[in-house]
Amino acid sequence: MTPRPIARPAPPSLSYELYPPRSAASADTLLRTIEALESTRPDHVSVTYSGDEQRRDSSLALLDHLLARTSLRPLAHLTCVGSTRAELERTVATLVRRGVRGVLALRGDLDPGAEPGELRHAGELVELVREVEQRHTAALAAGRLAVGVAAYPTRHPESPSFRHDVEVLLAKQRSGADFAITQVYFRPQRYERLVAAARAAGVTIPIVPGIMPVTDPRRLRTLCRLAGLAPHPGLAAALEDAPGPVERHRAGVAFAARLARAALDAGAPGLHLYTFNEHRAVLDLLEHVDLPRVPHVPVPLDELLLPA
Ligand code: FAD
Repeated sequence: MTPRPIARPAPPSLSYELYPPRSAASADTLLRTIEALESTRPDHVSVTYSGDEQRRDSSLALLDHLLARTSLRPLAHLTCVGSTRAELERTVATLVRRGVRGVLALRGDLDPGAEPGELRHAGELVELVREVEQRHTAALAAGRLAVGVAAYPTRHPESPSFRHDVEVLLAKQRSGADFAITQVYFRPQRYERLVAAARAAGVTIPIVPGIMPVTDPRRLRTLCRLAGLAPHPGLAAALEDAPGPVERHRAGVAFAARLARAALDAGAPGLHLYTFNEHRAVLDLLEHVDLPRVPHVPVPLDELLLPA
């Protein structure tokens, strides 16, 4: 009898988030970052989006750069905020024409003064992307786009409860989402709790942990304000108390590496790393995470400062 081939689980995926540069100097930094990240052969690189028209064009320019000048596969973020339904349809069609094959469908942040947009929730945007996809089957050789959505290990600031967030994630899956990427979180249990609750509710799509090595106390405060999170006291203290930038860097990287390892140990399908358009911290983090594709230089974690 011919033995059956053994189905091996896929190796964990690796992806990064970039945002469009806001100045010539930051564009130079970004180019260096892209080059450095490309060497780790990620599955995709996501590009943030904004309802603001100028920043929208910068996102498209960055997507074009990734497609034309690199071997990287872009995942285009898209938000309901600031756009009409017709504008979103045109943007999705443009992305498909330019060669983008993955979209992260989001509602977007409701900044004060921002136009809420015609679509109210990310689930409606997932449905819109699926509708537009139907009109472009000839361009899409694989037949469909990969559509991701956001998931929340810590309650979304506008949600009545964590349970509600899980229901919303299930609704986004039913609208046609293929995978989810989580908001930043600071405690490993938060990711595990989200996955357990989502699976119990019927969510079957991969839920990829979003991890950010934060190596600066000011950045931690800004991030927490924008995401509606309370800063982790141990991380905040380690960043505040570190005697210099090297120690701050080590503390931030060690903290994020611990989260990444815990998520992979809990069965996470991969890692999505928020980069702040800088490669140093994410590449240092990857040295402490055993992903098959990444050149692995093992350095014992206890050599780094581990905030409690
Ligand atoms: P939704 O899923 O629509 O949820 C928004 C709120 O509405 C939640 O409180 C939810 O509980 C509620 N809700 C949703 N659907 C329903 C429903 N059917 N019935 C009742 N309530 C519902 N923002 C940007 O502006 N640009 C970006 O590029 C960007 N990238 C991001 C990437 C990731 C991985 C993540 C996690 C977030 C990102 N954000 C970005 C931030 C995101 O836009 C905000 O967190 C936003 O507040 C919510 O977006 P969402 O897609 O989760 O919205």
